Amino acid sequence: MIPIACPQLGSEEQDAVLRVLASGQLAQGECVAAFERRFAEICHVREAVAVSSGTAALHLALLAHDIGAGDEVITTAFSFAATANAILLAGATPVFVDIEQDTYTIDPSLVEAALSSRTKAIMPVHLYGHPCDMQRLVSLAAPRGLVIIEDACQAHAAQIDGKPVGSFGTGCFSFYATKNMTTGEGGMVTTNDASLAERLRLLRNHGQKQRYCHVAVGYNLRMTEMQGALGLVQIEKLEQLTERRIANSAFLTENLAGVVQTPISRRGYRHVFHQYTIRVPQKREAWVRGLRDRGIGTAIHYPLAIHQQPFYREHCGQFRCVAACESTNGAYTTGNMAAIRNMGSLPVTEMAAEQVLSLPVHPALSREDLTMIVRGVRALCD
Ligand SMILES: *Cc1c(COP(=O)(O)O)cnc(C)c1O
Repeated sequence: MIPIACPQLGSEEQDAVLRVLASGQLAQGECVAAFERRFAEICHVREAVAVSSGTAALHLALLAHDIGAGDEVITTAFSFAATANAILLAGATPVFVDIEQDTYTIDPSLVEAALSSRTKAIMPVHLYGHPCDMQRLVSLAAPRGLVIIEDACQAHAAQIDGKPVGSFGTGCFSFYATKNMTTGEGGMVTTNDASLAERLRLLRNHGQKQRYCHVAVGYNLRMTEMQGALGLVQIEKLEQLTERRIANSAFLTENLAGVVQTPISRRGYRHVFHQYTIRVPQKREAWVRGLRDRGIGTAIHYPLAIHQQPFYREHCGQFRCVAACESTNGAYTTGNMAAIRNMGSLPVTEMAAEQVLSLPVHPALSREDLTMIVRGVRALCD
């Protein structure tokens, strides 16, 4: 079976972790600090703060920006639940804006309609590894003094015109086992703001300024030295792993374009293909079974959008949805302020949740694997 994800771990990672174990320094040592410096470098930012997960990164980024009760954060419902959960955990209110049909990322033309006097931040998600339209989001946020917190958990090394994601706003990354680089579990916050970085460091470590001097109420969301050591090895492989994902996706698109709806990469954008996601308008379950029968693992990211999740349905007073209206010809129009609605549904998001299907694209795929995936998909189209 070709798996949908496959962490790339070798003897270097093993050696690095064993060295940490032999050293006896398992926490708060040089590995995490060195990993932070290296991560900041590749993101073109001054500071990077390592934490225990991507969720912790999102949560602490919100807290460090002082976002909480009474504040609204504009985001997307087409993401992993952690994006919006972090907003709820901080005590703030998610405002879900519909997505672009082709990139699956937040639709900037709808963000303006979602603004209110309580809006404090925009949290775009670089879903599947395709960067959001950051130029438009920054131009909306900057004059209004809004914070941008990028959920870059799927987008390590993604760029727009050479500028890395995580450097447009406060960046949040995950190193969970299936991500483009991994430390098992882990996360990182990136920023150019030294005082924000200091608050993040306080919050991840019980609010301790020095040992046993607590200037804030914080958490324990630190990264271990074993994770830091893994990260230091993985980060040096990231470029190569990313190039392989991009090459794999190019092969799939070359052989599947016109057969199914393949993913797009906007001009000037470096899509790092955390997922290679096609659209299956009908009988998606049969596709999943059919591909499985041919030895091809698939996944659906995500079968339910966040606003459709049971918890969110039960607590619908805790969020808002902003979508474009259906025009008379049945198409959804965006960018028209008069045609924006503010209610409980997100048609483009909901349609995507019904149709998307991710195929394996990870760096361990061989040419034979890729050919098998192409044959499998083509067979289902006949
Ligand atoms: C993985 C992921 C997260 C959460 O990261 P964890 O490390 O699993 O906590 C958040 N947002 C998105 C888009 C993700 O893919």
